[in-house]
Amino acid sequence: MIPFLAAADLESLQNYCCEHHYPAFRAKQIHSWLHDRCIIDPEDMKNLPSDLKSALKADFHAPGSIIAASSKSPDQVEKLLLKLHDGELIEMVIIPSDKRLTFCLSTQVGCPVGCYFCASGRNGLTRNLSAGEMLEEFCIGTLRAGRPDNLVFMGIGEGLLNFEQLAITLNSLVDDFVFSPRRITVSTSGFVPGMKKFAGLKREFNLAVSLHAPDDETRSKLIPPQLRYPVAEILRAADQIALANNRQYTLEYTLIAGINDSLAHAEKLGKIAFAHHAKINLIPYNETGGQFRRPSPQTISEFETAVSNTGARITRRVERGSSETAACGQLRAATKKCGGK
Ligand code: SAH
Ligand code: SF4
Repeated sequence: MIPFLAAADLESLQNYCCEHHYPAFRAKQIHSWLHDRCIIDPEDMKNLPSDLKSALKADFHAPGSIIAASSKSPDQVEKLLLKLHDGELIEMVIIPSDKRLTFCLSTQVGCPVGCYFCASGRNGLTRNLSAGEMLEEFCIGTLRAGRPDNLVFMGIGEGLLNFEQLAITLNSLVDDFVFSPRRITVSTSGFVPGMKKFAGLKREFNLAVSLHAPDDETRSKLIPPQLRYPVAEILRAADQIALANNRQYTLEYTLIAGINDSLAHAEKLGKIAFAHHAKINLIPYNETGGQFRRPSPQTISEFETAVSNTGARITRRVERGSSETAACGQLRAATKKCGGK
């Protein structure tokens, strides 16, 4: 398997240079291009000799992914369609705001969870992304829009089902790219075995749990049974992570008309969040062409108020990018796999 230059740390670069009879300072130069500037194409590493550039191009995916298409919504949210080295397609989203630049990154090609309301899981899982591919998303986004303030793993896929590669990515972002773990959020649909492993990382990453329902019965209308875990188990695992990471977590709640938007749901949700010291992030449903509908503005406001009345903290996700189908849950590699690069 060809490694990804984006996932090479200083030690592996030193080993590479040593094996190929280049002086050690070359490893530091590559490391600096890569980790200080997010340059992943050796052609752009100006101070390297051309034979080393060619060697790196031959021995690594450098890069493995390219921007196949992009679209920007009027509110400046940019969606990038990335073509991976094998022709598979994923999407990432660049979300600028007055104060912050956020990247929303994908972790898989497709998603095996298959939530009934989400476009990303409609065709199941094609494959996991490697750490190199996730780090390339970070680098490609940075070269395009500048260094982000926040990273959210909320694009296509269930990252905790790809735990090993996600963990390598997270650790490299912190250790090699010097990105604060407090500015990285991993969102999960509640895959409990992966959550337990995430707690084991013991770093200050943020967790967002896509709860969407305060009880198992309502949840079963949204998530197929194969990879769905009981609400109580999910909350227990989330508490464990909060303790290990020393961070409060967020409960994401996609509000869907007639499914999970009653005042009884709101009250139950508020009580859960309050008891677990969790914040709630309300995401009014973005329609994706299926049977689900977004509640009326009045229902959304009443739901929000009913949650607040329990004493729980609730924010509504600022809606960005929906005109370009870059909003939550609208991401999917709509275009079919196309041939190699
Ligand atoms: N698989 C992970 C991360 C990707 S989904 C997870 O499920 O958490 C990121 C967020 O977008 C989740 O909270 C998800 O429930 C939400 N989402 C998916 N489809 C949506 C839609 N159509 N409208 C609004 N939110 C949606
Ligand atoms: Fe997968 Fe998350 Fe979409 Fe569910 S909401 S199908 S877990 S990406």
